[in-house]
Amino acid sequence: YGDANQKIDYVFKVVLIGDSAVGKSQILARFARNEFSLDSKATIGVEFQTRTLVIQHKSVKAQIWDTAGQERYRAVTSAYYRGALGAMLAYDITKRQSFDHIPRWLEELRSHADKNIVIILIGNKSDLEDQRAVSTDDAKEFAEKEGLFFLETSALESTNVESAFMTILTEIFNIMN
Ligand code: GDP
Ligand code: MG
Repeated sequence: YGDANQKIDYVFKVVLIGDSAVGKSQILARFARNEFSLDSKATIGVEFQTRTLVIQHKSVKAQIWDTAGQERYRAVTSAYYRGALGAMLAYDITKRQSFDHIPRWLEELRSHADKNIVIILIGNKSDLEDQRAVSTDDAKEFAEKEGLFFLETSALESTNVESAFMTILTEIFNIMN
C-alpha cells in the first residue's frame, strides 16, 4: 500500500459521513490498512488516512477523512467538506434510524460540499443479514432517485469495501479526464 518515493499524479479527498457507529472508521481502517477491530473507540479530533493506488496508469493518492465522533452533535464543519471530490454516505443495515437519517446527511452534504461531488451510499454490516432492518431494494431505490452510487459492504468480512472506494475514485478520475 503506497511507497514514499512514488510520484503522485492526483490527490483525491473523500469524506466519510453518516450516523455514529455505522462503521465509518472500520471501513476506513479496512481500506487504508486492511485492519478491522470489533471494539473501535469513537475517534477524537479530525483525521484522515491515505492510500495510494493506480487508476488507468496514474497514481492516485486517496485522502479519506473520518468524522471523528462529531456526528452525534451534527458539528461536522464546512472545513471537513472543503475540497472534497467524493463522499461516502454510510448507514448500518441493522439500524433503521441510521438509514432514515440519510436524507439529512445528504442535505448537509449538498449545502456544504461542491455541487459536483461524487457520492456513494453505503449500507454497512452486510455480514449481519439475520438482523437486517433496511432492505437492499429500498436503499437501491433511494440511491437511484437521488443519483447516488450504492453498495452494501462489510468492513468485518472485507466485502465490497475495495469496490466502494474504487467506484468513487474511478468516477472522480473519469470526471477529471
Ligand atoms: P463509526 O462511529 O461510524 O466510525 O463506527 P465504527 O467504525 O467505530 O464501528 C462501530 C461498531 O460497529 C464497532 O464495534 C465496529 O467493530 C462495528 N462494525 C463496523 N463495521 C462492521 C461490519 O461491517 N460488521 C459488523 N458486524 N460490525 C461492524
Ligand atoms: Mg468513527
